[in-house]
Amino acid sequence: MHAALDAYAPRLAEVADDLWRWAEVGYRETRSSQRLQAELRDAGFEVEAGVAGMPTAFVARAGRGGPVIALLAEMDALPGASQAVAAEPRRVDGQAAGHACGHNLFGAGTVAAARAIRQWLLDTGTPGEVRVYGAPAEEGGAGKVYLVRAGLFDDVDAVLHWHPADANSAAQSASMANVSGRFRFEGVASHASISPERGRSALDGVEALNHMANLLREHVPEGTRIHYTISDGGGAPNVVPAAAEAYYYVRHPDPAVVREVFARLQRAAEGAALGTGTRVSYTPVGGVYGLLPNDALGRVLDAALRAGGGVALGAEEQGFARALQGTLERAPPLAQAGAVADYAVGGLSHASTDVGDVSWNAPTAGLSTATWAPGTSAHSWQATAASGHALGHRGAQAAARALADAATRLYREPALLAQARREFEQRRGAAAYRPLLERDSPPLDYRD
Ligand SMILES: [Zn+2]
Ligand SMILES: [Zn+2]
Repeated sequence: MHAALDAYAPRLAEVADDLWRWAEVGYRETRSSQRLQAELRDAGFEVEAGVAGMPTAFVARAGRGGPVIALLAEMDALPGASQAVAAEPRRVDGQAAGHACGHNLFGAGTVAAARAIRQWLLDTGTPGEVRVYGAPAEEGGAGKVYLVRAGLFDDVDAVLHWHPADANSAAQSASMANVSGRFRFEGVASHASISPERGRSALDGVEALNHMANLLREHVPEGTRIHYTISDGGGAPNVVPAAAEAYYYVRHPDPAVVREVFARLQRAAEGAALGTGTRVSYTPVGGVYGLLPNDALGRVLDAALRAGGGVALGAEEQGFARALQGTLERAPPLAQAGAVADYAVGGLSHASTDVGDVSWNAPTAGLSTATWAPGTSAHSWQATAASGHALGHRGAQAAARALADAATRLYREPALLAQARREFEQRRGAAAYRPLLERDSPPLDYRD
């Protein structure tokens, strides 16, 4: 299987580079999704596209009987993250978005792993099904929550995923649940100097809400995060703004806390509208659960990652990684790319991901590999640059190998899957999964 993965490596790089160049944002990943689907169809997968009301989502299936192991493939880029493959900040002409989270590698690496797993199932005559979930709009669009709500994970025995990073690790941590949405205020336009008394400022509504949100911070459970932007602050200062908007996130590890704090924020918005003589409407955008860790699957991923021994960098990749490190305030030694971090389960990542909802519906675990120069943070220009370079390809290749090794072990040792299921049920406890997402359909235009 490793030989097949090695043989596919140049193609993995091509697919990753195509996605990197197209840099399509959430729910607009048309070409990227088709490219991943084509690679899977070509390898004999049956692909169902446009699932769960999302034109760019898909489920690809291969193999039959036995356990169902699912891999996740993300593919969306980030708006405003355009960056050339260079060791200095430089935008790509005519391009606004960029793969600053490396989801081009995520998608391509997963597809490489899935192809290898399918071939292994076939060659060894092992009963089992491998699936790839093409999951759009991870960055704020909560694409996977719609996949979950459509019941697409109901018959899955284990979900394995990975993410580009600056280190290799299969440590399993919890993450933040969140809810996000837009508060749109409507006022009355008027000349700001001749007749301000006839106007009602929608921006006042936004500012009053923001002030109350900042007061709220002191009186919420420890660990709550509240952040906002003024996504529309009006236009010319000599016009009383008739429309203005604030875009909010509330996060906490516990979904119940998120729900409660967000409800208080909604009441603050009503108060802000009342006090400023404006009207407010609320549009939910996203909502995700925190990750439910799984130690049984985490250990399998860790063993596979450790067997691969990290990411081996050639001279060219080392040179580029060093150049990128030269632009960072501080950077760990480059050797970090060739090491695997200590395994642990527990702890909390302050990130949020829609993989959280998946993890409440099927035993789930993930790993990360060093696709970026050690010291690089996600969503940085350095991450975009490395994600379009051989440096990124090497990391994706290491991830594909670890995922394929872990999956084949799980088919061979179904007792591990049973153990993962027991742990999943125990950690989930009696609490019912009730999605934080309050939308009936995906916000397909949220990036427009
Ligand atoms: Zn991201
Ligand atoms: Zn990401």
